[in-house]
Amino acid sequence: MSAALFIALVSAPSLAWNHMGLVWKRDDFPVPWYMSDYLSPDFEDEYQVEVLDRSMNAWNRDAPCAELEAEYLGVREGHWISGASASDGMNTVYYDDPAEQNGDGALGVTYSRSTGEFAFTLPDPDEAGVINYYFYTADSDVVFSQNVSWYTADQIEAGDCVENGYGIEAVATHEFGHYWGIDHTCEEIDVNNNECTDPAFYSATMFWSGTPCSNAPNDLDTQDVEAILALYGPYASFVVAGDSDRFGGVPLEVCFELQTKGTEGAELEILWSFGDGNTSTETNPCHTYTTKGQYTVSLDVDGSGNECGEFTYTYREAALVLACEAPQPSADSAGLFTYEWVEDNTYQMVNEADLSVYGCIDRVQWDVFKGDELVQSVAAWSPKIDFGEPGEYEVVLNLGGPGGIAAEGLTITVGEESKGCSAIPASAAGLLGLGMAFGAAIRRRRRG
Ligand SMILES: [Zn+2]
Repeated sequence: MSAALFIALVSAPSLAWNHMGLVWKRDDFPVPWYMSDYLSPDFEDEYQVEVLDRSMNAWNRDAPCAELEAEYLGVREGHWISGASASDGMNTVYYDDPAEQNGDGALGVTYSRSTGEFAFTLPDPDEAGVINYYFYTADSDVVFSQNVSWYTADQIEAGDCVENGYGIEAVATHEFGHYWGIDHTCEEIDVNNNECTDPAFYSATMFWSGTPCSNAPNDLDTQDVEAILALYGPYASFVVAGDSDRFGGVPLEVCFELQTKGTEGAELEILWSFGDGNTSTETNPCHTYTTKGQYTVSLDVDGSGNECGEFTYTYREAALVLACEAPQPSADSAGLFTYEWVEDNTYQMVNEADLSVYGCIDRVQWDVFKGDELVQSVAAWSPKIDFGEPGEYEVVLNLGGPGGIAAEGLTITVGEESKGCSAIPASAAGLLGLGMAFGAAIRRRRRG
């Protein structure tokens, strides 16, 4: 892989890599690590060190720009206690889970502990607008399980691995991914729920399960490399500025902040695309959305001139901005709603508000008045309303969302021959007073 000179990364708009929330402090590089004195009977002593060294270095080899540095400091003679209880500030790898801490079914477990010192935030790659917090790692121990038949890479290559045997090198590479701070691409539950949809997640080193008798993945996958670069750089992403709101009514001004890591010394070319056809080359731009819509914002960063050579990123936050107008009738409707007679004193309300921008209507309430008296309220999209007895009623539909509120009323004469909508929309302006009371009324949710 010639990644040293050129990396092209496009973070997927949907599910991407996951992190543990822990990261090693670069000031503390190289990160020292040891092997316990409990040596596995499955392998030659030398091989046990060799496989760890190779697996640790796989991360450096395939993601060289992350500039990970680890240093093996040797066997801890007389030391064998593993797992969380051994968080003694010495990062140690244990074969055969000497303290029997790993759960059944685990091939290996990495136990990491934080210093409690805040490191940085990163925008979540899967959920727009969500920020994840990272802390520095204090101690990390890798523990390979007992009761697993382990095989060397050569044994697997030679076909000597039997059913339910596992390659120690592939598992070690995976565990060192946790060690550096990477979590699984997909968990078992994601697979079972059909939420692990991208084939790339299955081939990643950080997929939740290993394949029996396999040396794969010998090389890190794109997913793994992206994950490690996002933690250690070089990396570019962005957040919505703290005093800026990404949901609201038009005109909506949203300010963005570039976040970079490991790009010191590089010359950056920046291009923002705001999703509505407008772009900017400013570092931290503000943009005003004037048309309602749900907008995906993307950032292209080209860098050159630092030690890593050239790099290109596209970072995208899908459906990040929601710019709304006040609720209004859909294109082919005269008003916000109509109604149909169902039976007796019951009528079907038919909500005809425009739903073309998802999320722009998040509150709905129907108020039924007889004269000046509010006789019932219903919080449902298109409810059936039983008026109880004949008479003349005023039905007001209140709608609210980030772009504002709207209200519209119709007079329904219940108990006459009522087979269609014959009423005339009342003036929305005349009902504004009702609409204004909406916020308080909806919270009480008397019905529905
Ligand atoms: Zn794992």
